[in-house]
Amino acid sequence: MQQPHTSIGTRLTLIIGTIFGLYLMAVSAVGYVMFQQYQGFSNLADREFGRAMAAAELTRDAEIIAAEVFEMMVGSRRSISAGSQRTENLAGLYRSARDRLQQLSSSADADRAANRELDRWQEPFFLSLGQLDQRLELEKQLQTEHLQLIDTLFILQQRLPLSDFGAQSPDQQRFISHALTALVAASSALSAERPGHVAQLERACEQALQKLALLPLEDEELLELRRQLTEVLPEAFRSRGPLLKASRASLATARETRVLAQKLTGASFSYHLQLKASAQQAITDHQKLIRSSLFGLLLASLTLLAITFGAIMYIRRHIVLRINRLNAAMQAHLQGKQVPVPESGSDEISTMGASFAVFVDARRQAEQQLEQANMHLQKMNAELERLSTTDALTGIPNRRSFDQQLEHEWRRALRDGTRLAIVMADVDVFKRFNDTYGHQAGDDCLRQVAQVMSDQLKRSGDMIARYGGEEFIVLLPGLDLSHAKQLAEQLRAAVAGVRIPHAHGPTGHVSISLGVASNRPHLNMRVETLIHRADNALYAAKSSGRNRVQVAN
Ligand code: GH3
Ligand code: MG
Ligand code: MG
Repeated sequence: MQQPHTSIGTRLTLIIGTIFGLYLMAVSAVGYVMFQQYQGFSNLADREFGRAMAAAELTRDAEIIAAEVFEMMVGSRRSISAGSQRTENLAGLYRSARDRLQQLSSSADADRAANRELDRWQEPFFLSLGQLDQRLELEKQLQTEHLQLIDTLFILQQRLPLSDFGAQSPDQQRFISHALTALVAASSALSAERPGHVAQLERACEQALQKLALLPLEDEELLELRRQLTEVLPEAFRSRGPLLKASRASLATARETRVLAQKLTGASFSYHLQLKASAQQAITDHQKLIRSSLFGLLLASLTLLAITFGAIMYIRRHIVLRINRLNAAMQAHLQGKQVPVPESGSDEISTMGASFAVFVDARRQAEQQLEQANMHLQKMNAELERLSTTDALTGIPNRRSFDQQLEHEWRRALRDGTRLAIVMADVDVFKRFNDTYGHQAGDDCLRQVAQVMSDQLKRSGDMIARYGGEEFIVLLPGLDLSHAKQLAEQLRAAVAGVRIPHAHGPTGHVSISLGVASNRPHLNMRVETLIHRADNALYAAKSSGRNRVQVAN
């Protein structure tokens, strides 16, 4: 058998394989995009969170440093100035956070701008912080000198002989008075805040010292005291100016540092804002990507749906419907209806159709052959039937056929109470005819006699048969003896009328003798009796000269 070109199996495998392959491809593509975007987004989130934390640390550090500066300025530590190391530590923390932020920053314009803004305030801030340290250091030195001066003034004041003031000499009293005036002026200058006030106090101090200088002193101790007062007190005014200046400069630098710290915090906040904007942008991009991925998935699903629908339609049209048609054709053939078998195409269904068509053809041929054989058989049967009831030589019914008909008519006559007549005929001296003209001529003669007698019977129930040899028998239902005799006479005359030459016959031509019997059948009578009586009558006709009719008595 020829192998189908494109088998249903191959086609189904192709269809299912195509659908599954497309499905795998779509799922892989969407999965790949999703994975990429998941990775990108998680990297981005990591970096943005790192940056947010670094920026927050930066803000915190800047804020702590600013608070520290404030603490240094207003707190007790201003005087002892232990802040230098601490600010250095804090600056170190700040710088490391800044470095991390720099590393995490991208090369995007917005990132660069935010970093520049941080750098813009960062450098002046640390410069200012350094200056503040220096100023506080200077202030510390001046403060130390200042305290030493206060101690010296206090010692000098202690050495003034203040007890028993009234008992002392007028010069001594004036000395104490001028010395106290100068000491008070110098002490006041040490806590004076305005330069004008300091100058005022300096003048008062100078005047008191001049007065002291004019005093005539003899006491060694007072002379020493005056020398020391003249030496030490101007020092109080000389140191006060720089200390005040240093203190103001520290304050100004502290303020500037504070402002710069605020700017830095502000820049850091801006950084946060930029961070928020870039995170939002990332989220928007992510959403866009998810939307496009979902749209792609939807599109792929719809395409697959369409392909699946197409595949179902294809299978339905090229496989299921054809199988159904083939099945319907097979069913129709099973019910004996001759419909065309679908066998177009070159696949398994077509092969099945073609094979079935071959079977249908074979069956049709077999049926035709069977029909022909049946017809032949019927003919043969009919012929056989005819042969079995017909005499081969003469063509009229034979004795067997006659016996059946006689039996039938006998029962009918018995039933109806009608008569039944029998005529027996025998060709006269026929042996001699054969001897004279040959057996073949005898046969011909028998045929002619049979035909002539047969032609005389017109009624449908009448029947003539060859009874054996050259004897014939006639069945005449319903005829009484006289009518049967009439018909027998008619038969005899008809045979004689053919005038077949017979040199040894009683008339010179072929003749027959006939015996007639008629009866109304009854239950105690047998059909053989009737035949026997006709036969007796025939015998009588022979005996009384032949070529005549004799009725049974
Ligand atoms: P009868 O007048 O007393 O009847 O004399 P018959 O010679 O006719 O009678 P018989 O019984 O002596 O002879 C009958 C002959 O019929 C004998 C036979 O040769 C002949 N015969 C019987 N059947 C056939 C047949 O089929 N064909 C031919 N040619 N002759 C037959
Ligand atoms: Mg005879
Ligand atoms: Mg005879």
